[in-house]
Amino acid sequence: MKRKRIEKRLEDLKVRPHLIDYEKIYKEFQWEEVASQFEGLPGGGLNIAHEAIDRHANGVLVHKTALVWLGEDGQRREFTFMQMKQESNKFANVLRSLGLSKGDRVFTLSTRLPELYIAAMGVFKNRSVLCPLFSQFGPEPILQRMVRGDAKVLLTTKSLFEKKVRPLLDQLPQLEVVLLIDAQEDESEKVRSLARLMQKASDVFEILPTDPEDMSLLHFTSGTTGMPKGVVHVHKAIYMHWMSGRYVLDLYPEDIYWCTADPGWVTGTSYGMITPWLHGITNIVSEAEFDAQQWYKILQDEKVSIWYTAPTAIRRLMRLDFDPLKTYDLSSLRLVQSVGEPLNPEAVIWGMEKLKLPIHDNWWQTETGGIMIANLISQPIWSGSMGRPLPGVEAAIVQKKENGGIAEIIGPYKEGELALKPGGPSMFRGYLHDEERYEKCFVDGWYLTGDLAYKDEEGYFWFIGRADDIIKTSGHMVGPFEVESILMEHPSVAEAGAIGKPDPMVGQLVKAFVSLKEGFEPSEELRRELIGFGRKKLGVAIAPKEIEFLPSLPKTRSGKIMRRLLKAREMGLPEGDISTLEA
Ligand code: AMP
Repeated sequence: MKRKRIEKRLEDLKVRPHLIDYEKIYKEFQWEEVASQFEGLPGGGLNIAHEAIDRHANGVLVHKTALVWLGEDGQRREFTFMQMKQESNKFANVLRSLGLSKGDRVFTLSTRLPELYIAAMGVFKNRSVLCPLFSQFGPEPILQRMVRGDAKVLLTTKSLFEKKVRPLLDQLPQLEVVLLIDAQEDESEKVRSLARLMQKASDVFEILPTDPEDMSLLHFTSGTTGMPKGVVHVHKAIYMHWMSGRYVLDLYPEDIYWCTADPGWVTGTSYGMITPWLHGITNIVSEAEFDAQQWYKILQDEKVSIWYTAPTAIRRLMRLDFDPLKTYDLSSLRLVQSVGEPLNPEAVIWGMEKLKLPIHDNWWQTETGGIMIANLISQPIWSGSMGRPLPGVEAAIVQKKENGGIAEIIGPYKEGELALKPGGPSMFRGYLHDEERYEKCFVDGWYLTGDLAYKDEEGYFWFIGRADDIIKTSGHMVGPFEVESILMEHPSVAEAGAIGKPDPMVGQLVKAFVSLKEGFEPSEELRRELIGFGRKKLGVAIAPKEIEFLPSLPKTRSGKIMRRLLKAREMGLPEGDISTLEA
């Protein structure tokens, strides 16, 4: 599809005058201005939960609705900033009573329940570290992450606990307490009812001085090799959250905001809880998974004005032959932003046609903690482009030099790796327990993102693909190594190679190539067994959807499986440089 420049009628979008001149915003931006938005703790320091919740509960927004929760079965619960403050105070007191303090890791494994959002704020208040897990993970990814992250407490539900965690308890000796959201009674000293503990807890809690550089969040992300990496974030990241909330999401107090991302992934924490509340905004949380009519109904009934969603969801809406504006009143909606995977140019145009609003793409990753590149509401969009760097962000396209190091590519339209100047407030501060891997991300004063892209003459960035083998499926990051390791545990499997196979709906689907041990023959039955095996161990979110048997997998002479070649063959593309291929 041809790229199209989309000029917007700024009057229709009600764009605020200060957002119109990109060059001016970019040049005049000062982090000090952002800093002045925060109150700071009475005893000193900066704490996410104080700025997101307590500051408003102590001020004029005290009775404003902070959270609207829409349950799967039609239930609705609302929490004001005051109620969020009291409930999160209780959770912080629960943690304190369990002996948890600064730096201790609290894992969560839950669907989008109010308790998850309350607990997150309580964790920040106690200066412990929030480590969210995706509720669709199977036992294996849960175990890997909890062991790596030194989990002390796990907050989960009865059914997730039974299905996925109880069988792992022997392998988690450092796990002290499991808090069950929906249990009425304690099962043991270790497996406790959250409700019971909350009943006993005081709703008053004093947040102790928090250094802006104290660890706040640990999100796991996948690498191309090895097991998942724990990405360390700090309280100071709220500078970026506040700023991107204002410049990209255009949040103002009268807005109603809905971010569809799950807090098991970074968008669901940075923008599904922290950012809207920093701006004192009513935040909609829907527990249910995607359903087109239900989603339009939420946009209409809740009068959502700012909607932050993802390409897979937009493609699902596009697939329907349906004109939402003929059935639903979406007149409150004034901005749609999207993140996580490439947004097809068609999707931007679809938005113009069906919602009377373009879809604004933006780019960031777990490591950057917040949005780095975006299409601002006031700026023209080139459909298919991720937009331009935010104020305070310096981005470039770089290339490896022959004699080592990297060089910035100056000319437009030249492909290379997307790099950022390090040092921003939301940038990760390390990979937990893996200094070496962290150091490797920085070369010649740039942070290398692992994405391939190019820049045009207007400074818009365009995504090409990953520089490595990481798979993005429905916007979720999957490390091929994690998938392969599990398949290799099956008695029939000799070798496994996992790739992202392009898919029109979910971006990429996980496909695994498998060669079998002697004595095993490929069959439809075995293929189904392996798919089931993957699902049971890894969970539906990351298990391979397709499995293909090969007599052997292509490997380099040093024995590494050439996923690149598997992918090229799958897609019928040229095989590229195969000089290292094993004979
Ligand atoms: P994660 O760390 O799971 O948030 O994934 C980050 C990765 O998702 C990036 O490095 C990109 O590969 C991809 N990604 C995020 N946003 C976009 C976007 N707007 N366009 C294309 N790819 C994206």
